[in-house]
Amino acid sequence: MIYLDNSSTTRQYDEVTRLMCETMADSFGNPSSLHRLGMNAEKLVKEGRRRVAGALSVKPEEVFFTSCGTESDNTALFGAARARKRTGKKIITTRVEHPAILEACARLEKEGFEVEYLPVDGRCMVDMDALKAALTEDTIIVSVMAVNNETGTIMPLSEIGNAIKEYNKEHGSRILFHSDMVQAFGKVRPDMRLIDLASVSAHKIHGPKGMGALYIKEGLNIEPFFYGGGQEKHFRSGTENVPGIAGFGLAAEMVNRGFAERTERMRTLRSFLLERIKTEISDIKVNGFEDGDFACPAVLNVSFLGTRGEVILHTLEQDGIYVSTGSACASNHKSKAGSHVLRAMGLNDKEVEGAIRFSFSEFNTMEEMNMVAESLVKAVGKFRKLGSFR
Ligand code: PLP
Repeated sequence: MIYLDNSSTTRQYDEVTRLMCETMADSFGNPSSLHRLGMNAEKLVKEGRRRVAGALSVKPEEVFFTSCGTESDNTALFGAARARKRTGKKIITTRVEHPAILEACARLEKEGFEVEYLPVDGRCMVDMDALKAALTEDTIIVSVMAVNNETGTIMPLSEIGNAIKEYNKEHGSRILFHSDMVQAFGKVRPDMRLIDLASVSAHKIHGPKGMGALYIKEGLNIEPFFYGGGQEKHFRSGTENVPGIAGFGLAAEMVNRGFAERTERMRTLRSFLLERIKTEISDIKVNGFEDGDFACPAVLNVSFLGTRGEVILHTLEQDGIYVSTGSACASNHKSKAGSHVLRAMGLNDKEVEGAIRFSFSEFNTMEEMNMVAESLVKAVGKFRKLGSFR
């Protein structure tokens, strides 16, 4: 098996699985219980929080555990909107966010909030002039993802953070800056000082599914999403997922420890595969940045013109190669127009239809890239030949 769908989810580290199994078997106490078993579980939660915070370069008190990236995104938006509804009604985001943001924004519009969806250019880069022009005194929050999940484009978070900071200073306002860092965590390291809220998810970094976290800058108050037993300092009630937190913490520490080596490995694999595609397959289009500071090393999105991505995907699958045509979550939201991200970038029908996303992890090898390139050459050639007979 050659797994190149790591943006959808990753294979859990064996060390994480082992730790989670041990935790489930031996440390099943409720962290709120006052006895020894409870205290033991509480210790594991504390350690998980310390590890996630360390990997994010924030303080442990600023990390709140959630059930997934989606919950973190929803909590950030609804929490900020509800806490500040008397200050303003406007939310700014981009057209290329994950549905966890876009669907939450659509719901907030129904509740009376106004949402401005910023355009992106042909490489999925947010329009900074549009962002600056969109800031008004009525704005509550700006939410821009750190790395796009379909194209791997790295958004200029520092530039956005500075624009918001300047605006706030000039107008005496307090617009919040949230970033969906689900695809960025472990692959790029944004400057957290300019960010007020950030969402991350464990299953994208070789941790368990159903585990996420929201970073909330110290001193910032937003409304909780869940009410109940008062866990997570009353911000997120519900008995803590102790094995999930322990597993997330270990995965976060592991990706952080090997950061330079891991990202360099992914970058090398990505550029090697891209080079082979460019030299051996005609009529292709790279969706996003080919390389450089704005290209996430973990994602490569290419349109093979005159083919259908879905057919190529299943042809590669026969060779044991797993890729994707876009985001896994978007496949629940299939529209006739195809990927909302590629559409926002201005791609035409043919370009959207032929798009394939390859997403890498540290477990991939150069040998695998050679096998993928060979299968791709065959699959694209076969499809184009068949297509030309029709
Ligand atoms: N945000 C982005 C950019 C994602 O890629 C994903 C998952 O694909 C999510 C949010 C949702 O995360 P989760 O699957 O943990 O709910």
